Amino acid sequence: MFAQVIVDIVHQNVARSFTYRVPERLEDTLCPGWRVLVPFGPRKLEGIVTELSECCDVPPEKLRTIVDTLEDYPAVLPSLLQLARHLAASTHAPLAETLRLMLPAQMRGGRVRVKTETAVQLAIPPSEAEQAAAAQGRSRKRQMLLTLLSGGETQTVQELAQLVRDPLPALRQLEAQGLVRIFEREVLRRPGGGGDDAPTPDPTLTPHQQEALENMLPPMRRGEGRFLLYGVTGSGKTEVFIRLVREALRLGKGAIILVPEIVLTPQMVDWFRGRFGPVAAVLHSRLSPGERFDEWRRIRRGDARVVIGARSAIFAPLEHPGVIIVDEEHETTYLSDRHPRYDARDIAAWRCGEEHAALVLASATPSILTFARVQQGRLRLVELPRRVMDRPMPQVEIVDMRRELERGNRTVFSDALRSALTACMRKGEQAMLLMNHRGYNSFVSCRSCGQAVKCPHCDISMTYHMTGSDGMLHCHYCGHAEPVPTLCPACGSPYIRFFGAGTQKVEEELRRLFPDTGIVRMDVDTTGGKDGHARLLAEFRSGRARLLVGTQMIAKGLDFPRVTLVGVVAADMTLNLPDYRARERTFQLLTQVAGRAGRGTLPGQVIIQTYKPEDPVILAAAKQDYRAFFTEEYARRRSSFYPPFSVMARLLVEGDSPEAAQRHAARLHEGAEALLAEHPDWKRATLVCLLDQPPAKMLRGRHRWHVLLKLTAGPAAEALCGALTELGRETEPPPGVETFFEYNPVTMM
Ligand code: ADP
Ligand code: ZN
Ligand code: ZN
Repeated sequence: MFAQVIVDIVHQNVARSFTYRVPERLEDTLCPGWRVLVPFGPRKLEGIVTELSECCDVPPEKLRTIVDTLEDYPAVLPSLLQLARHLAASTHAPLAETLRLMLPAQMRGGRVRVKTETAVQLAIPPSEAEQAAAAQGRSRKRQMLLTLLSGGETQTVQELAQLVRDPLPALRQLEAQGLVRIFEREVLRRPGGGGDDAPTPDPTLTPHQQEALENMLPPMRRGEGRFLLYGVTGSGKTEVFIRLVREALRLGKGAIILVPEIVLTPQMVDWFRGRFGPVAAVLHSRLSPGERFDEWRRIRRGDARVVIGARSAIFAPLEHPGVIIVDEEHETTYLSDRHPRYDARDIAAWRCGEEHAALVLASATPSILTFARVQQGRLRLVELPRRVMDRPMPQVEIVDMRRELERGNRTVFSDALRSALTACMRKGEQAMLLMNHRGYNSFVSCRSCGQAVKCPHCDISMTYHMTGSDGMLHCHYCGHAEPVPTLCPACGSPYIRFFGAGTQKVEEELRRLFPDTGIVRMDVDTTGGKDGHARLLAEFRSGRARLLVGTQMIAKGLDFPRVTLVGVVAADMTLNLPDYRARERTFQLLTQVAGRAGRGTLPGQVIIQTYKPEDPVILAAAKQDYRAFFTEEYARRRSSFYPPFSVMARLLVEGDSPEAAQRHAARLHEGAEALLAEHPDWKRATLVCLLDQPPAKMLRGRHRWHVLLKLTAGPAAEALCGALTELGRETEPPPGVETFFEYNPVTMM
């Protein structure tokens, strides 16, 4: 028998499978999905069997033989092997690379081991134990050990050591007499404590929750159904998930629930385990390699049937999922930022199709692309239009910062926000203040009319680079550049300047206003380290701190019942990002952040500060009116030609040196132009093909350039994207430089 094996190295010349002879002793065992050790040149490498056959066309003298299997079970399920193939084809990645997604990283190369403990059991019938103990003569220790084991249960040496000092030598003697058996057994590392407590009782469903389930359960039972669960913040989506998962278990199937990494706080994990007990497994990035490996094996063995995890949990080795849920589906964390670049929502849809499960995407602010699918009839809409327990939606107040300026208030807080904060602190409640991330660059906007300087061709804010500036404003979608104006082009006011105030400045201002109040600041600077994030949140949750200042990371999924005031310091920061999704992000951010207020029994108040209070996005967010936002934004996408009406694609180059990155990007640009010259239909589909630096010229110490394309959506664009992927892969970069192909990238930064 012969096996096709994908060897676990990712390299240009090895992007195919190799044929090996199957040793006779493995013929009955092996099937596709087994990990094996194979000779490869002078080395032995790990590989995965993808196919078995009775004959092969490799000459016998060239054939080598599989050395051994690496586990005593096939590590890659047939469905996941299929998925790896599908992903390799759709992202133009080598199969060796996509197969890696299906295994815990540490499993490869044997970097984590199965943890074992030494256990002991009586080797004689329990009824004979007493007699055997008596026969041990002067050894009190051996007598005692036999008595302890006389019930017949297995005990670990460690447990026995608590009662009998240093039991192992005595146990060995008993083993030599044939009275006990000593053996190693596997232990599973269980991340986090808790979880094995009594299950939490179920609340009675609200009528809307009931109705949502009545819509979703029948298709799910038939192994189908694709839903968007659109529920306002606080509408109780989680309870709906729980009932769906419960039904999946009842059907003898499993479930995968994807959540943004940030939501997987220890509280969330405990709570989830409380509802499902040990049948739940949790996968997130804070697990130790050993814990991750053990959770993975619990799922693989079928001991855990409910998987909750961040993006990569979509590859969990769960057989027969009955439902796959993607919570907060609009989050960008579902797009992988590493090779191979996949969208966990697409993988979820694919798995649901192949494995006959229901797909549930859920959000209070669905992404434009997802809601467009509802309109095309590709997803069924299920709504939760009200908050549970008739809790009111938060009151949102928009503050016009232009008026503040007119009145001479130049601080970061409007009078309204300052007095709301004071009242909130006086009542002993909590408040959250949101700032957008610190920019790599800035935009220019008018303090009198609120208008940002936009590209005349692209309807996108122009960007000024804070570092290495040439004094010009740049459009990152078409390359247009112009000098920074001194008077507002819209209203002629001289109050036109760079926009920017960071979390730090807001924190300083708060310390000045409330010197005796505990303040927590959360941004990339303060949340480093393994538990930085959790520690800060715990500080706020405990009530020791009553003010939380942060970037959008605080807007997501966090449930603080004592927060009664949420302030958005400058909505303009997000609104004017140089990204065609800036308006979508703003709506999501403002809606989500407003949803943070009044989660408990106390009513919530939200204050949004902006220089553009009449902007439709701000108005729709203040009213939490998703449909108004969608209608407006969808029309704008159509008229300005952005996805889903066009495809944005780019070849992103990152390098240690700016020159090398630029040179390589220039080569790719030439390659792209050559492709367009060869294919007139691709050329016709191309609206922009531009060599440029992205708005974030440098990221994590790496210099960046890109070849950016805007294409008319359609078959020509798809074919061109395939060719661009090949181009990126085949144009060998100089040392220290990497190329990434991105299709409708998560961010244009
Ligand atoms: P969402 O995810 O839709 O924003 P959650 O699922 O967090 O909302 O639910 C909001 C709050 O309502 C939570 O504290 C949850 O425990 C509670 N809740 C959900 N469903 C019910 C119900 N049927 N009865 C009582 N409380 C509920
Ligand atoms: Zn103006
Ligand atoms: Zn432009």
